[in-house]
Amino acid sequence: MDKTQEVLLIKYGEIALRGGNRRIYENMLMDAIRKNLENAGFEGFHFYKEQGRFVVAGGDMEKPLSGAIAHIVCVFGITSVCRGVRLAERSVESLFDAALGYAKENIGNSATFKVTTNRADKNFPGKSNEISAELGGHILTSFPELKVKLEKPDFELIVEIRNSIYIYSKATEVEGPGGLPPGSAGKGVLLLSGGIDSPVAGYLAAKRGIDLTAIYFHSPPYTSERAKEKVLDIAKQLSHHTGKIKVIVVNFTEIQLYLNDKTPPAKITLMLKRAMLKMAGITAQSEKGLAIITGDAVGQVASQTLHSLHAMTGATDLPILRPLATYDKKDIVGLAQKIGTFDISIRPFDDCCTLFLPKNPETKPKLSIIQNIERKMDDLEHLMSTALEQAEIYQF
Ligand code: ATP
Ligand code: MG
Repeated sequence: MDKTQEVLLIKYGEIALRGGNRRIYENMLMDAIRKNLENAGFEGFHFYKEQGRFVVAGGDMEKPLSGAIAHIVCVFGITSVCRGVRLAERSVESLFDAALGYAKENIGNSATFKVTTNRADKNFPGKSNEISAELGGHILTSFPELKVKLEKPDFELIVEIRNSIYIYSKATEVEGPGGLPPGSAGKGVLLLSGGIDSPVAGYLAAKRGIDLTAIYFHSPPYTSERAKEKVLDIAKQLSHHTGKIKVIVVNFTEIQLYLNDKTPPAKITLMLKRAMLKMAGITAQSEKGLAIITGDAVGQVASQTLHSLHAMTGATDLPILRPLATYDKKDIVGLAQKIGTFDISIRPFDDCCTLFLPKNPETKPKLSIIQNIERKMDDLEHLMSTALEQAEIYQF
């Protein structure tokens, strides 16, 4: 039997804190990782839980294990993935033997080093810092030129003593997105437009464990088929990070024309957004959603001043999450680029709110006035339910 086996060590963050839910969260995270690996064509790997870590071992895999990292490290809930070895035997002698071997193979031309030991199993003989010191001594004997450096050494050898012993180099650590396991928070309905902001809002919501159903309002023939395709492309790109996304495409034209007819121009954008929120709320009921998510950022445009956001009150009973509320545009753009939606979002197709955009949109609307206008819209409910019944559904 080989003395060591190549493994990936997966670290996860906050879920370790979640008392009674911990097991459930861990299992959700493992399911998401397993699904990603299987979707990427990995077979025959051995995947298990280890005191505060997950481990992927090569098993009978045909593909190289290192190729799996990219498919693991994108999963929400994961803080990092390290590549190293698991020892077949769990003894002090085999630890020193394997660690020295690993150091020889991986130290390269490093000038400085340190050893860090993490002894999760307190029954293993020796204290963590004693093991590190002794092992460091062995390494220094083999590499007399090498210097110990505790802050940012060129080479950091990490030993983790758990049910098995693991050894890896800090340099192999690839950072994950953090957050909570996919779907662990329940479902939310994302108002997804073709803009830059809402996909980023969806990403951030999904990162906190929210399972997304997206809803897009289009207004043919005023908005083109290509504007719709753009939104579907955005949803597809988003799904690479968030897992499955259902997209509901609602024909908004009649509602938009109706609202336009009944509303003073300065308030039209607000009325449109209230109608969208109402319909998202109705959709959430049938989808078992618990919240609505939008890409609003305070003060970004007239319809997103604090007064305008206040004027959305009562459009839905559900909590409205606005993950970007306090973000500057440049930070939103940075995130959009990171998640790969930016280039799709900047394709030049109008969304439905820019269509009848007033010259002087109100920036300090009054909720009571908005509600009064809305009260007189006798046909609105009927138009909304018809549009929802006829919605198209896409799955990514
Ligand atoms: P975005 O870049 O996300 O389109 P924006 O800065 O263009 O946002 P608005 O057009 O005021 O701002 O939209 C604010 C939010 O309202 C969007 O982030 C989105 O959540 C929602 N929204 C706007 N238009 C639509 C639409 N046609 N379909 C679905 N949601 C929409
Ligand atoms: Mg927009």
